[in-house]
Amino acid sequence: MITITCAACGRKLFRYQKIGKGKLLHCWKTRISSDYTVREDDQVYCPCGRHVGVVEGPWINLHGGSFAVRGSALK
Ligand SMILES: [Zn+2]
Repeated sequence: MITITCAACGRKLFRYQKIGKGKLLHCWKTRISSDYTVREDDQVYCPCGRHVGVVEGPWINLHGGSFAVRGSALK
């Protein structure tokens, strides 16, 4: 399980089950275990107001540079 945090304020955005190596580009909704973000239609924001991504069908497309990742993926 990884924790995705806001690059602007450090708040938690998601707890996420990441599978495999590689850069995190989007989050499958079904693998998000906790969601602390704020939604406005399909736009995803940190509670601080930073825009972090867009919902696109089954996943959330994250903006590179708007978040940081802690923890490790399943190998
Ligand atoms: Zn923030």
